[in-house]
Amino acid sequence: MNDVLLKTREKLNFIAGEWVGGADAAENRSPSDTDDVIGLYTRASREQAEAAIAAASAALPVWGATTPQARADILEAVGVELLARREELGELLAREEGKVRAEAIGEVVRAGQLFKFYAQEALRVEGIAIASTRPGVRVEVRYEPVGVVGIITPWNYPIAIPAWKIAPALAYGNTVVFKPADLTPACGWELAEILSRAGLPAGAFNLVMGRGSVVGDVIARSPGVAAVTFTGSESTGRGIREIVAGRGAKIQQEMGGKSPLVVLDDADLANAIDCAIGGSVMSTGQRCTSNTRIIATPGIHDALAEGMAERTRGLRVGHALDAASQIGPVVDDKQMRVNLRYLGIADGEGASRLCGGEVLERETKGFFLSPAVYAGCDNSMTHVREEIFGPVVSVLKAPGYDAALAIANDSLLGLSSGICTRSLKYAEDFKTRSTSGMVFVNLPTAGVDYHVPFGGKKGSSYGSREQGRAAREFFTASKTTYTNPL
Ligand code: NAD
Repeated sequence: MNDVLLKTREKLNFIAGEWVGGADAAENRSPSDTDDVIGLYTRASREQAEAAIAAASAALPVWGATTPQARADILEAVGVELLARREELGELLAREEGKVRAEAIGEVVRAGQLFKFYAQEALRVEGIAIASTRPGVRVEVRYEPVGVVGIITPWNYPIAIPAWKIAPALAYGNTVVFKPADLTPACGWELAEILSRAGLPAGAFNLVMGRGSVVGDVIARSPGVAAVTFTGSESTGRGIREIVAGRGAKIQQEMGGKSPLVVLDDADLANAIDCAIGGSVMSTGQRCTSNTRIIATPGIHDALAEGMAERTRGLRVGHALDAASQIGPVVDDKQMRVNLRYLGIADGEGASRLCGGEVLERETKGFFLSPAVYAGCDNSMTHVREEIFGPVVSVLKAPGYDAALAIANDSLLGLSSGICTRSLKYAEDFKTRSTSGMVFVNLPTAGVDYHVPFGGKKGSSYGSREQGRAAREFFTASKTTYTNPL
């Protein structure tokens, strides 16, 4: 596409109900084919981010005063459109982020379901009426909007994560300033375009695309933003947390993971291989909940490691839109360098690479990497302790259940965890003693429902849970009233 054509198609920011150009613009290219230009996306200036926050503040009383039915109707319409356009938006997502088409369509469906779920939740903003400890006094607890919510999202789920933050924010009467990841603005833009036609008052929803260090920084620092919900890396998250909490605003964060999957001798081997591979290298390993640490007991360890390697060797890596591809590309050259660096570290640490870890040539210029399985790993190894965010999985051996549980819990992160076993005793014990926010039995640790709480413990998360009805805690502020009816 030539420059002039691209310019005329520049996708703009949405501020105070208007589409506006920004300070500059960035080209968005497909990681499956760097010659495939998806579009040109405006990047907001600091001043524009401030303008979006001001617009959201001005819209608060208007949106906060809408009826639950009006909110429900708007969110429902967004959900219905997302579901109706699943194929088209799924294809865009696959092109932009690199997950294969079927997974990308699944993500769009999830985004639609989230909007439909929170449409109903808008009708259920309940309060509490409770007897006072004092005679004659009536006590009520109400749940009110928090105010302007700043939403900062990562690239790996470029439509589902925005959906699970924007939908509850609006359902509970807040107004929104949304900054998608700089790498994946197309999906965020499409969602904003749908919202721009949904009947929201001007300023209730604002899109400001651009750099984290510019737009994200304004959202974190502005006193006009009452609450910030962030999903992304631990290091970025830490910096934002200091700023937001430092100025006394509310913050919720979902960050990295290094999720363990314990496989006991009595596990169903075929299922354990499905879980170990399905939950780790699929989606190019670019999932925060990936089970990248497989901890196996001696009776099953060898068969599991061999089975995992065999399964992985058979996986087809290629263009995200090629129907034959089972794994798409790494998201960009920077993440490719990170992956290769960790592969080098793993080799240097003495782990034994059973397969993969090779940069692959395909017909198009993309970032293709064959998934890697390591055995002979130890929980003290750097590649086992740190989140790689690539298609790399490590197999560790533990002498028995207690040792496996101890290794699983020996991490600074605690997003999700899993166990493969036929033993009810061990499954129940693991659910109780695992130090992660989500626990899976005979399932991969990636792949969650949208109507129940999502989030981790330790360094993986901060603040209250997302999704399901748990979202109310973050997106509302309680007010307790006392009345003495004279
Ligand atoms: P990232 O931290 O680089 O970026 C996340 C967002 O923060 C982006 O929108 C970015 O532009 C913005 N940002 C960057 N610097 C900023 C700053 N100084 N101030 C304000 N905003 C700033 O993360 P990423 O590379 O986009 O995503 C990958 C990471 O996300 C991985 O670590 C992964 O584990 C994590 N993740 C976690 C979950 C979860 O729910 N736990 C889900 C998905 C991804």
